Amino acid sequence: MTAADSAHALPVDPPRVRGRFAPSPTGPLHLGSLVAALGSFLAARHQGGEWLVRIEDVDLPRAMPGAADAILRSLERCGLAWDGSVLYQSRRLECYQAALEYLLRAGRAYPCSCTRRELAGSARAHDGSPIYPGRCRTGVRHPDRPHAIRLRVPDVVLAFHDAVQGDYRQRLEQEVGDFVIRRADGLFAYQLAVVVDDAAQGVTQIIRGADLLDSTPRQIYLQGLLAAPTPCYGHLPLVTDGHGDKLSKQTHAPPLDDRAPGPALWTALRFLGQRPPAELAAAPATEILQWALAHWQLQRVPASITHPWSSPFTGESSPNGLTQAAKVID
Ligand SMILES: [Zn+2]
Repeated sequence: MTAADSAHALPVDPPRVRGRFAPSPTGPLHLGSLVAALGSFLAARHQGGEWLVRIEDVDLPRAMPGAADAILRSLERCGLAWDGSVLYQSRRLECYQAALEYLLRAGRAYPCSCTRRELAGSARAHDGSPIYPGRCRTGVRHPDRPHAIRLRVPDVVLAFHDAVQGDYRQRLEQEVGDFVIRRADGLFAYQLAVVVDDAAQGVTQIIRGADLLDSTPRQIYLQGLLAAPTPCYGHLPLVTDGHGDKLSKQTHAPPLDDRAPGPALWTALRFLGQRPPAELAAAPATEILQWALAHWQLQRVPASITHPWSSPFTGESSPNGLTQAAKVID
């Protein structure tokens, strides 16, 4: 028996949980994105797993200069330490190109010259985008025009169990249609980049905002085509303001106060259904995280797509209530 043989005979450790937080650098971290960062961090670390950070800047024109660094700095100040080095999508275009070429060669994807105007009369998906009627499926209509690349989807129901939202199913062809994996302007689509990266980084657990719940069947379908494993999923409710709008840079969500991240962490924990003691809100970030790691329960996260957040102290919508929440007596 050689040394190699005896190594093979050793019991194999179960694969470690590997979670990730993958923000787009379109603005600084705010309560909404902190909830996703904290939820994914706790879900992974609570199980002794790793937690990675990836900057999803594949859509470079939308990236805000300096936002990626600002996000990383906020994570550090919150005590959310990641494993390994940060992955930047903008440096991975060759990998996306290789996946795209593979899908084209396999006949799974095809060029499409349809313009937005030509698709304006199509039925609409959940997110308001047109469900592609398949005009270029059997051959690109206008080979002379710039063209997108679409993934051909079959008429199947894709179902998965979401650790927060429960069972979810989608008829890919009817509800989404053949979707774009490289845009006509040459940019790779999020759906392709995220699947290639999660596979390359060995991510086993994806905890993220519920705005991506209806993208998940597309990503699971792509994983199958690229022979990539399907991670576990959990979609956290989105923080909405008093008008029911998702907190984002567009809705002028205030950035996190980096100098005193404790109250925001405490508020994010409360939003995620956890029950940190009131006095902890005034504690340093490391102390809040210590408590959170010891007490984290994913099953306490509300199973809703959106969840308005009002400060229990003032009844006001949360964006300005972040620091006020620290004064709440539980
Ligand atoms: Zn077309």
